Amino acid sequence: MNTVKTTTCPACSHVLEEASAVDGKPTAPVPGDLSVCLYCARLLQFTEDLDVRVMTEADIAQLPNKTRIEVQLTQWAITQLISALPALP
Ligand SMILES: [Zn+2]
Repeated sequence: MNTVKTTTCPACSHVLEEASAVDGKPTAPVPGDLSVCLYCARLLQFTEDLDVRVMTEADIAQLPNKTRIEVQLTQWAITQLISALPALP
């Protein structure tokens, strides 16, 4: 995990302080990178100042198919984890 600018998820309001690359490479996010919230599984995108915004359906429709499939698999995995864990504070 990489420490990132502390922000909140605009979808669920949980504090976000870390991010990790799907491929496991130790890289810090840059503007435009995608992220999936570990608390609500919404697709986010890092902004120019490294806050995050929720991706719209129109944004998602413009992603390459490979990226959209990777995002959907990541969201599915996070949703499975969320449902298997006790409620988070
Ligand atoms: Zn969230």
